[in-house]
This record gives sequence, structure tokens and C-alpha cells, in this order.
Amino acid sequence: MTRFEPRDQIRAMSGYHSPQVDVPVRLNTNESPFPPPTEWVTMLADIANTVSWNRYPDREATELRTVIAQRHGVSPDNVFVANGSNEVLQTILLTYGGHGRTVVTFEPTYQMYGQIARVTGANVVTGQRGDDFTLDSAEIDRIVQQHNPAVTFLCNPNNPTGVIESQKNLDTLLSLASGIVVVDEAYAEFADWSAISLVNEDLPLIVTRTFSKTLSLAALRVGYAIAPTWVIEQLNIAVLPYHLDAFKQAATVAALLFTSEMETRVSLIKTERSRIELALQGHGIRVWPSGANFVLFRPHGENVQGFWSQLLNHGVLVRDCSGWPRLEGCLRVTVGTPQENDMFLSAVEAIMASHR
Ligand code: PMP
Repeated sequence: MTRFEPRDQIRAMSGYHSPQVDVPVRLNTNESPFPPPTEWVTMLADIANTVSWNRYPDREATELRTVIAQRHGVSPDNVFVANGSNEVLQTILLTYGGHGRTVVTFEPTYQMYGQIARVTGANVVTGQRGDDFTLDSAEIDRIVQQHNPAVTFLCNPNNPTGVIESQKNLDTLLSLASGIVVVDEAYAEFADWSAISLVNEDLPLIVTRTFSKTLSLAALRVGYAIAPTWVIEQLNIAVLPYHLDAFKQAATVAALLFTSEMETRVSLIKTERSRIELALQGHGIRVWPSGANFVLFRPHGENVQGFWSQLLNHGVLVRDCSGWPRLEGCLRVTVGTPQENDMFLSAVEAIMASHR
């Protein structure tokens, strides 16, 4: 069979995958461990009955953008919605990245920024975080002055480190006035500050959010951006027409009736996060203090793949980050239900005991 080669950018890459294994405790992809409220699930049948299935959906997603705007005290004209925040990021990069432009990330960070930037043809430059994975403003200054990026990503809290970004670093980036600055707030509900209040017409600032984490709707695939109106207009040129299906629009509007219920689970996750951090530290395992719903850790003196496999033998799947830039020896565990966390911690205990 004759193979036809893809574009150079694609040929040079492998995809972004989180291996899924059928185990009792899945703590590898930072979802909410709790399903959405059953009242919402029950509403879905009625919603399906109201959709005009023979018609294209509302291309502007007017009602959905309106309720999201109310949630954040902005205008619907400041809201762009897509199929997961990954599609929001892709649309941003289709609009502002691309051939001949530079995209900046600060490693270690979410791998999809670099991946999507390359797929869409941009040149990617990586700045470096310090040993504790915080970012020095001098590094921001150096990278931006040297490379004049069209798009720069900050992730707050940062995935996979959990580190909360300082607002000073965002101020530094914005003061350098170079291109679009994206603050990815996929885990914002677990942290203590948000950049949404900074969004205004005079700043090239885009803040992205998702329904996949706190809002317990990873399966629905919805994410959004809050940005100046001129950004939203430009994103709408790049995105496909009717990208957001009618059922999803209506189901998401209904989900927003339950946001406070879903957000009350945040405090439980935070308490469980501290429990995990303390227990791991108690075993002499290095942990990075997290502002998100996951914890990055480095089992001391261990063969990390062996540690990961042993967890799997105990029925617990975590994320092996050891092959990612700067994360040698690191694993990341998502905070689960108290029972799931018990199983994770007992597995760690057993592995550590077997090495004594
Ligand atoms: N940003 C960050 C930092 C993430 O960790 C994730 C999910 N892993 C996403 C964006 C994408 O989320 P989704 O597409 O499900 O909205």
C-alpha cells in the first residue's frame, strides 16, 4: 500500500495520549470524581425532545453565552464557547499562531499548548520554570524580549505541577505588550485568584475555562474563553460554522443551573488534596504544593515506572509524567473520592513497605 505522508509538522510528532486502563481507581486525567447532579441527567431526555434536529444549531450559541456571561459578570460579547477548552485553545492558535509566528510556553506546563501550536504551524519557544516550578519574571522578560511571541500561555494553577501562578507574572507579561496572553484557568475553582476580572478591551488577554473539571462534565466537551470583544470576533472567523451542536448548547445551559451544587464539592477536594500531600510527604516523597485537583509527586530514589506499575497492580491508575520536559521521576495523582484516595494511599503504603 502506498502511504501518503502528512505535513512536516505532523510527521515530526506523536499524539498526546493519556493511556486508559480498565482499573477500579482511575486518578490519571484530573476529572471530577463526582458525577453531575442526577436532576440534570434526568432533564436531558426533555432537552433532547426540544431540539429541532433537522435544523442547524444557533451558530452564535446566544443563550449559552448569555448564561456564561452572567456567571462571570461580563457581556455575552466577551464569551466564546467551544468543544472543550482544548478546542478553545486550538481556535486561539488558529487565529493568532500559525506559520511564521512564535508561541511561548513555560515548562513544565500543559503539553497541549506546544502540541496544538506545532500542529497549526507555529514555532514554539519554551521558557523555563525554576526548580520549585515557579516562574521568575526575569525569565518572562528574557523570553518575550528575545522572541516577540504572538501568543504566550500561562496556566493557573499550572498542570501538571499544581503551582499557582503569581499575578505579578501576568502583569509583567501584559506590560511587555507582546502579542496575545492566554491564561488557562482549567483548575481555577481550586485556586485563590482568577484573571477574569482583568479582562478589558485594552488588554490582549484571554482567559480560558472548562466544564470538564469542577463542573463534572468532561464527557460533554464544553469549554470557553472570556476575552475582549475584538478577540471574540476574530476567534469567530477562525472557528468552523455550527461547531457547537444544539443538544450540547441546551444541556450546558441546564448544567449552569447546578453550578453552586457542583462548586460545593471543591472544598472536599481541597481537604482531600491536603490529606494526600501530607501522607505522601510522611513517606519522604517529594510533593509540590498544589492549588488544583491533583498532586505532582516524585517517589524518592524509586524507579518511577516500577512505582507506577505497582500502583496499577493495586488497581490504581495515575499519570506517568516522567517523560515530560523537566519532570524526570514524577507522577501525578488526581484527587478522587475519599474512598479512592484511601485506596491510592494504601497502595503507596504497601509499595513503600515492600521496599523497607
Ligand atoms: N487546560 C488544561 C490545563 C488542562 O489540564 C486540560 C485538561 N487536561 C484542558 C485545558 C482541556 O480540557 P477540556 O478540553 O476537557 O476542556
